[in-house]
Amino acid sequence: MTQKHILIIEDEQKIAAILKDYLEKSSYRVTIIGRGDQAVVQVRKSLPDLILLDIMLPVMDGMAVCREIRKFSSVPVIMITAKVEEIDRLLGLEIGADDYICKPFSPREVVARVKAVLRRVNPEPFWGNDAVCGHLILGSIVLDEASHRVTVNSKELELTPSEFRLMQVLISQPGRVFSRDELLARVQGYDFEGYDRTIDSHIKNLRKKIAVHLPDQEIISTVYGLGYKLNYAMNDTS
Ligand code: CA
Repeated sequence: MTQKHILIIEDEQKIAAILKDYLEKSSYRVTIIGRGDQAVVQVRKSLPDLILLDIMLPVMDGMAVCREIRKFSSVPVIMITAKVEEIDRLLGLEIGADDYICKPFSPREVVARVKAVLRRVNPEPFWGNDAVCGHLILGSIVLDEASHRVTVNSKELELTPSEFRLMQVLISQPGRVFSRDELLARVQGYDFEGYDRTIDSHIKNLRKKIAVHLPDQEIISTVYGLGYKLNYAMNDTS
């Protein structure tokens, strides 16, 4: 089992250090970032498995941090707050946190909450098939099966039906290599007389459309002699 990565966003070093200590004893890998704005930049580069987010932070507060992160990721977020009045807002749609913990807290309670939230989400670290909403999520890419929409960093891609179907097949199993024949069959149906090159041009167009929003990342990789795969570790710099 891979070690889960917990990001603690907290400027009070003592509190962060105690949490880190307890979480590491529970076999988590832990990173601490003291500033909200820097944390957003880091999360964009490398998505953790869960975020513990303090509300009172310098420069950008925890609520703004959570809103920013929600624009590109559904990573679980547990907010830490000293104000009981804030709880309703935290858990509401407005902020999009998954759970909250009130200060003062016992570190053991925090560890228990982290475990509970991680159990609730998909065990795969970088993508999740949310059956309730019909959303397939890979990092900053979200595919909504019901509305046939794909967004990258919350920006909608204008996809043809074949491109959408191709994306749907690839994102359903990130990291798996699909042959051109298989993609052709799944995108256009087994009855359709198609050519391998058709898939190549769909892939080319899809890459172009994604690259507008994620210029520095290779989302769809060519596996020579085999086919294509969606690069599921695109957020993993560890
Ligand atoms: Ca703080």
